[in-house]
Amino acid sequence: MSTKKAGIHTTLVHAGHHPDHTGAVTVPIYQTSTFAFRSAQHGAELFAGGNDGYIYTRLGNPTIHALEECVAQLEGGFAGIATSSGMGAVSAVYMALLDQGAHMVSTASVYGPSRGLVEKHLSRFGVTASFVDTTDPENVRRAMQPNTRLLYVETPSNPAMQVTDLRAMAEIARAHGCVLVVDNTFASPYLQQPLQLGADVVLHSVTKFINGHADIVGGIIVTRTEEMYRRIRPLMVAIGSNMDPHQAYMVLRGVKTLGIRVERAQQVAIEVARWLEARPEVAWVRYIGLPSHPQHELAQRQMSGFGSMISFELHGGIEAGAAVMDHVQLATLAVSLGGIESLIEHPASMTHAGMSRESRLEAGITDGLVRYSVGIENAEDLIADLEQAFAAIPVAAPR
Ligand SMILES: *Cc1c(COP(=O)(O)O)cnc(C)c1O
Repeated sequence: MSTKKAGIHTTLVHAGHHPDHTGAVTVPIYQTSTFAFRSAQHGAELFAGGNDGYIYTRLGNPTIHALEECVAQLEGGFAGIATSSGMGAVSAVYMALLDQGAHMVSTASVYGPSRGLVEKHLSRFGVTASFVDTTDPENVRRAMQPNTRLLYVETPSNPAMQVTDLRAMAEIARAHGCVLVVDNTFASPYLQQPLQLGADVVLHSVTKFINGHADIVGGIIVTRTEEMYRRIRPLMVAIGSNMDPHQAYMVLRGVKTLGIRVERAQQVAIEVARWLEARPEVAWVRYIGLPSHPQHELAQRQMSGFGSMISFELHGGIEAGAAVMDHVQLATLAVSLGGIESLIEHPASMTHAGMSRESRLEAGITDGLVRYSVGIENAEDLIADLEQAFAAIPVAAPR
């Protein structure tokens, strides 16, 4: 059945599934590196691109293709390109769209490795980048240069949960003849479809919401046009950042419940966010579903829900953050996000403890900043867990 015009939950369950000769209800894992040609002529046709079929798994595979078709439909794009990881998707997009000497403009609070890839690696090939606060379109307009080829935006972004106006970004990109790419990982296609707001390319770390079970690393790119697909796909194949069939099978299993997982998690998240906002230990809460969030209205306009990522600032700084990390029992201390289980992270005492305080602050990581990826557990249990952990904050630390 075609799911092209179906509702989103139907698409999540059925898109990309085309029963094979066995009638298998789920997409089988085609765990094979290569595919037999029926004849020399058939092989020649496949290589010429004039025939449907498979050659070699780095170039394409039926299990991987099912996932690509599913996510492409969710995003309303031409086609998908599944990758080994989210960074595999970012690398393929950068390398396909940035020539020697090209410039890109991006969100200052973009996922760290997406920034590092340009500044530490592509800089060797003469690629330059400006990282600006994209919540104000004026900053983006000012950062544009004659050689700007790529506007790469992440929204909502880490750790302050900043929301960027995608229609405004699309307008600026069009005016400057550059490509707009959106990292849609934090929203997932269930809550936000950037291609419908004017983006040319959307990408995901499927490690997060799309798979949703913290058991796989993967990525995907979806392009709006066939032309863009033909620019990026060969680059991905050339660098070999393809997904594996088993990985694709796991993600196909996870994505079916994306809608119900996101609905449930955001219901829990608003309760946790409201509780945090009322606590004396907490200086501020950034949850895009709270009216106190600076871009709450913009989020309401361009997203169909607020998701389940919260960040908040503890009054007691590093000491308070570390104490809470050592006392939570239900939320797991870990990086990553978007799974069914709640994960908590205090960058200043954990992932970013090796950085100087100055560079941390530059990256928006204040001493008391806690990031919470809310899962699908009972809100009252998560709140009770935080409450007993807050009780462990040393009295010497200002509350
Ligand atoms: C995790 C993440 C990535 C990188 O994805 P991997 O699957 O870890 O390679 C890229 N962008 C965002 C927003 C992420 O959260």
